[in-house]
Amino acid sequence: MGTAARRIKSESAARKPQQHGARAARTNRQPAHNETTAMPTTLTGGCFCGQVRYETTGVPFHETSCHCAICRGTTGAASVAWFSVERSQFRFITGEPARFKSTRRGTRSFCANCGTQLTFETEDFPSEVDITVCSLDDPDSVAPKDQTWISSKVRWAVLDNRLPSFRGGASGR
Ligand SMILES: [Zn+2]
Ligand SMILES: [Zn+2]
Repeated sequence: MGTAARRIKSESAARKPQQHGARAARTNRQPAHNETTAMPTTLTGGCFCGQVRYETTGVPFHETSCHCAICRGTTGAASVAWFSVERSQFRFITGEPARFKSTRRGTRSFCANCGTQLTFETEDFPSEVDITVCSLDDPDSVAPKDQTWISSKVRWAVLDNRLPSFRGGASGR
């Protein structure tokens, strides 16, 4: 409880625009709550040109379609689908991405040649890494389970009414 409360406080103090990865209200940080894809799987992916490739053996969790202003601004897309895995279960297997700080605590990686954004990491959750679903070789293998930061979404973006929506980061599942 103390940790969660502190997170909420520190994130609410974060400067605008509201950012992907600021999942303050989540109380369950364990990936085990994922019921449908609880089996560890090897997932592979990479950038559009093939210069950077990655692999993860982790169980996907926090699958979301993020409408935050930073995801939009750094990709040029209306929203970005992400999933998380334990950082220890993720590695780049070919090439090395370029990185930039998208916020004070957040770092994004992308291919320096073709520009595909690949990962998001934040110092707030150092044991996990977020991966863009559509950089997977099979983007159909991980589907968003909710829609986050819809408070920042562009007005013409249509939400999927089959999925829960959150104004900010998702709260407990
Ligand atoms: Zn985002
Ligand atoms: Zn590339």
